Amino acid sequence: MTFIKKKTYEQHDNEEGSFYKNSVKPFEFSERLENNLDIDLCVIGGGLTGISSALNLAKEGYSVALCEARTLGWGASGRNGGQLGIGMRKDQFFIEKKLGFEHAKELWNLGLEAVSETTKLISKYNIQCALQKGVIHAGFSKRNMDDFHFEIDHMHKHYNYDGYKFFNKYEIKEEINSDIYNSGLLNNDNYHLNPLKLLLGLANELVKLKVRIYENTPVTKILKDRDGVKVYSEFKIIKAKKVIVCCNGYLDKLLGNIRNKFMPINNYVIATEPLGEEKAREIIKNNYAVSDTRFIIDYYRFSEDWRLLFGGGETFTSRFTHNSMKFVQQRMYRVFPMLKKYKIDYSWGGTLAITVNRLPSFGTLMEEKIIYAHAYSGHGLALSTLAGKLIAEKISGKSERFNFFKKIKHLSIPGGDIMRRPIYASAIIYYKIKDFFSLN
Ligand SMILES: Cc1cc2nc3c(=O)[nH]c(=O)nc-3n(C[C@H](O)[C@H](O)[C@H](O)COP(=O)(O)OP(=O)(O)OC[C@H]3O[C@@H](n4cnc5c(N)ncnc54)[C@H](O)[C@@H]3O)c2cc1C
Repeated sequence: MTFIKKKTYEQHDNEEGSFYKNSVKPFEFSERLENNLDIDLCVIGGGLTGISSALNLAKEGYSVALCEARTLGWGASGRNGGQLGIGMRKDQFFIEKKLGFEHAKELWNLGLEAVSETTKLISKYNIQCALQKGVIHAGFSKRNMDDFHFEIDHMHKHYNYDGYKFFNKYEIKEEINSDIYNSGLLNNDNYHLNPLKLLLGLANELVKLKVRIYENTPVTKILKDRDGVKVYSEFKIIKAKKVIVCCNGYLDKLLGNIRNKFMPINNYVIATEPLGEEKAREIIKNNYAVSDTRFIIDYYRFSEDWRLLFGGGETFTSRFTHNSMKFVQQRMYRVFPMLKKYKIDYSWGGTLAITVNRLPSFGTLMEEKIIYAHAYSGHGLALSTLAGKLIAEKISGKSERFNFFKKIKHLSIPGGDIMRRPIYASAIIYYKIKDFFSLN
């Protein structure tokens, strides 16, 4: 079986515009792949899925090499909204209807573990990534009030979970200084943080565990070998017993048709100039992160130096938009008109992968010599970190928890290579219109 990556998908190099990129020192421990290598395990992709896989596997005693096409954290993991959320992208009620209660409950427990695993790593390795407690789901339409009450009730009854706090119209205005919300749901088990600082903190642990890290080393194909796989980079070949593919929205054709099980979409973020703590707390009183209830969501939070990082707006063409600042600004001013007088210092975007049912896609190929995990559908900060732990469990012979994800069935996005983006775009227009009418 041969998988050939013909061209790298969306190699957008706009990270100079990223607040995160400018908040960290470059990673200094990358090597050059100058000779062919023989190793236990090869990880492809230097995002959180890849780094967490490498970390957990190296801790188990395996020799590990990690290849990243650009630099560590170059993908979604170093560009995202920084919201570290429990659960999955969809609520439990939705998941129960799709998969049945027992399976939904297994996923709920894993979703809780994803956040606790991440915060444990942060404290174990003393990673300074500006961890803050609390994320509010802000209700855009009046109907959200009932949805929130239903969720509180449902989670209490069926999961014995009481981590939510409801805000009515007046209370949500106290928390978030905007006139556009009708209600809100705070979850105090969710956090927000600087994701690139988290990622590089974990990467430093890889160095201590002697993981070989090769940046600027795109993998071009994976071939089956007698007792393992051969991983071809542009430079040399890595022979490994297994390969862990963690390329997410940038996967392209490296795993053949697997790419049809998700849609890569682009999402954009801006960062204001620093507003100072006092002004910031006039906007979000308790420094929570926020995401709203629309289909194309707005999400935002304050950074460690009190900039508002505001994300929103998606494009789904194969071309990455380089002038996204304007349309994200417009979304931000709609929520916070008083921010018009502040400068925008950074504007960037990234690619994420979403599945039809918005649940992650885990799997194996080539008689389990290839293992992959991706497509957390915009909810991957915690889940990608957990994925690495589950992949290590699987490779060490304990497949059960990996299989909770693997057994989720995913529909292919219809339309093949040519038509799937237009088809997806048409569906999005429908939801954009719905968003518009829930606001107006
Ligand atoms: C703008 C934005 C906002 C988001 N906000 C949030 C949020 O607030 N909370 C949340 O939970 N999730 C959020 N997400 C989603 C989250 O960031 C992702 O789910 C998660 O980071 C996925 O991690 P990953 O390691 O699987 O993929 P990535 O971080 O995308 O890493 C994949 C890596 O693989 C590399 N790669 C690809 N092909 C090859 C190859 N052939 N050879 C070598 N390397 C290769 C890429 O260069 C890339 O670095 C957001 C995503 C975006 C884009």
